[in-house]
Amino acid sequence: MRAEIISIGTELLLGEITDTNASYLAGQLPLLGVDLHWITQVGDNQARLVDILRQAWKRSDLILTTGGLGPTEDDLTREAIARMMGEELRVDSTLEQELRAFFAQRGMEMPPSNIKQATIIPSAQALHNLQGTAPGWWVESDGHIIAAMPGPPWEMRRMWEGEVLPKLRQRLKRAIILSRTIKAFGLAEAAVGELVHPLLSSANPTLAIYAKPDGIHLRLTAKARKREEAQKRISQGEARVRAILSDRIWGTDNDILEVMVGELLKAKGLSLATVESCTGGLLADTLTDVPGSSAYFKGGLVAYSNEAKIAWGVDAELIARHGAVSPEVAEAMATAARLRLAADIGVGITGVAGPDELEGKPAGTVYIGIDDGKTKKAIFGNYPAYRLQVKLRATTAALFELRKALAALD
Ligand code: AMP
Ligand code: MG
Repeated sequence: MRAEIISIGTELLLGEITDTNASYLAGQLPLLGVDLHWITQVGDNQARLVDILRQAWKRSDLILTTGGLGPTEDDLTREAIARMMGEELRVDSTLEQELRAFFAQRGMEMPPSNIKQATIIPSAQALHNLQGTAPGWWVESDGHIIAAMPGPPWEMRRMWEGEVLPKLRQRLKRAIILSRTIKAFGLAEAAVGELVHPLLSSANPTLAIYAKPDGIHLRLTAKARKREEAQKRISQGEARVRAILSDRIWGTDNDILEVMVGELLKAKGLSLATVESCTGGLLADTLTDVPGSSAYFKGGLVAYSNEAKIAWGVDAELIARHGAVSPEVAEAMATAARLRLAADIGVGITGVAGPDELEGKPAGTVYIGIDDGKTKKAIFGNYPAYRLQVKLRATTAALFELRKALAALD
């Protein structure tokens, strides 16, 4: 099924409102396995609206419109659909009664212009609007469907969820759609795109790439008549993605890095402590977002200045020799965390949050140190040079490296 969305309203074209209806609906369609091919915005102009509807009818199976169902003269969606279908608008007595009842309930007289909201054409069925006066339309003919919904986002959503979605599901019953998200870290979105390029042209499963705060998400979506077939396609797609991205992958679907780190620590009976510089405590903050984190997280120190690093056990010589932003100091901070708080594992983060460079190192340079009592290591990272981004990425990197280190520990 090929779909298109038409957002109707001159205020959209004037830049006065953002087309959140289209983005909402665009986000809904993949879950149904419906391919969206076009989103159009059109003003409250009868001729142009009829024009775009004609074009949509030719090229799409499903047309979703929002807006233009109000009672005023500039609301023209009903008139335009009627004209495109070549059908007469008539007042429907049931709709009229419901409309009058809506006003009566509120102790109001119905303005005469509202009667147009009770009009309909023979190919259309009314869609209930529990939030307002404008009923929607479901038009079905020659294998094409138009679902016309009101403009106000809350009314549109209610109607989509309560009326349009169930009808669509009924028509799509035979197809099973499954999807799986694979989460990776440590590569830029474009680099991931290049690596998985051969998979991007696959039609079933499809593969989409999204940049998220916790890395890059790759979403596989498969369609099939049978669940097992869809499942098989997802598994095959996932195997190909895993073969390409291997240890850059840290989780799937609902996995959350800090939760996974916590579970690994619990499973292995290990405790954790942190000393953070450029992240200013964000790692500790993120770790403690997880309920029950007190079972494995001893605590964290924010060692922002060199004095603080030294006071908590980093050798002053080391800082003098290598600089505060260095693999040596990151490791020493990890060790200080472990020893100071008597934890099994220590993590240290040092870096340049920016915007200015430091010690000749560019903003975005980060070293993550990990000390598990047996081995020490420091991992280099370079992130986009916006302070908050650097802090966020460095925190994610630390969690990503911790998860990897913990998974490798016996
Ligand atoms: P209408 O049904 O065209 O009279 O639209 C009524 C109101 O709904 C508009 O004034 C906007 O506030 C809102 N609205 C209409 N279309 C959209 C859209 N595509 N996205 C978000 N809000 C919208
Ligand atoms: Mg409007």
